[in-house]
Amino acid sequence: MSAPQTLAEAIGCLSDCDPQALPVARVREVIERVVVPVEAVERLAIRSALGRVLAEDLVSPIDVPAHDNAAMDGYAVRAADLAAGAPTVLAIAGTALAGQPYTGSAGPGEAVRVTTGALMPAGFDTVVIQEHVSIEGRRIVVPAGQQPGQNRRRCGEDLARGRPALRAGKRLIPADLGLLASLGFAEVPVRRRLRVAFFSTGDELRTVGEPLAPGEVYDSNRYTIFGMLTRLGVDVIDMGVVRDDPASLERAVRIAAESADAIVSSGGVSVGEADFTRPVMSKLGDIVFWTIAMRPGRPMAFGRIGRASYFGLPGNPVAVMIAFYFFAREALLRQMGARAEPLPYVRARALTAFAKRPGRTEYQRAQLAREADGTMTVRALGSQGSGVLRSMSEANCIVVLHHERGPVAAGDEVDCVAFEGLI
Ligand code: AMP
Ligand code: MG
Repeated sequence: MSAPQTLAEAIGCLSDCDPQALPVARVREVIERVVVPVEAVERLAIRSALGRVLAEDLVSPIDVPAHDNAAMDGYAVRAADLAAGAPTVLAIAGTALAGQPYTGSAGPGEAVRVTTGALMPAGFDTVVIQEHVSIEGRRIVVPAGQQPGQNRRRCGEDLARGRPALRAGKRLIPADLGLLASLGFAEVPVRRRLRVAFFSTGDELRTVGEPLAPGEVYDSNRYTIFGMLTRLGVDVIDMGVVRDDPASLERAVRIAAESADAIVSSGGVSVGEADFTRPVMSKLGDIVFWTIAMRPGRPMAFGRIGRASYFGLPGNPVAVMIAFYFFAREALLRQMGARAEPLPYVRARALTAFAKRPGRTEYQRAQLAREADGTMTVRALGSQGSGVLRSMSEANCIVVLHHERGPVAAGDEVDCVAFEGLI
């Protein structure tokens, strides 16, 4: 990992860009260079580690499987006993079950009945599945054509002792819990949880439960941000609504920076409002105000306040979500110590046209579907206004229309980020 850069060094790479239209990819690059992972590590019981980030490579202390064993129900045989091109008759010497090894001393000319997972008896190397043999009293007839070594799982075939089973930076998924258990780990070292403070800004905002006066709106961003942060698996610190005055903002930011690893705010970064937020933020930390070539959500502030990273997201309810998902999410994962893995795109055929202007990245709310013939299609949702949260709620994906792309006609292919995944 390269050493973290100062904000000034990191934003140096934007010097060739139009400051009124910074490309999304470049902005993401800067953010990635600036944020640094939390260092503290704790040991957790494996179930409690679900969703947490592994702090160290975990080396397998055992071979998995620990011994050669049968991959199918059938008969363990010695390949050397099998006649080439003709059936072979073998005497049944005994049985090995999963968890109950065969303890006899079967040898040449004999077979041992085995169930899946049973240890291979010493000297036996091949399993003939039970459907392929005919039984004649205490003997079996093995047809010709068996491959030596077939249906046998080799010791260490899944994981060899001494080899890394899981790498540092992995966010643990259900399969990992099972894998850890299969290696006998009761506890694992994980990075401590990230603490993220968040607040909304705006004199017009009311909190749910309060009556609305004319011109006021309910603060919804604090709820979407809460939801998105919670899904990431961080500890959240809700700092409420901060009024549009420098003293309130300064107080909130100072408290947030003292208690959190990252601060997420919404509103107050648009050109008009930056006039008063910029001086406050600049006094407290190393913050830049950007205008990004994207839609929705052009304005964004980013930087550091003390040890905390700061994401000043736009105020519009959809813009805040897009900026969170496409900028803050990955940065926070990196702060959590997770290896950055770009979100997978689903390629889909557009059923509707998508208006798009080259020179900015557009994120459009849409419905992704799998058609009867198995192909993926995507349909734009009605209002794409950056304040229309309803279409975000109805969407099941975001269509990402990349920087250079022009208008999309029905039938063209586009990249989508699906909201739901398997895990
Ligand atoms: P701003 O970025 O602060 O200029 O806000 C842009 C628009 O988003 C304005 O119409 C605000 O009323 C609205 N807005 C800002 N913050 C919130 C919020 N927390 N909840 C709902 N709407 C908001
Ligand atoms: Mg505002």
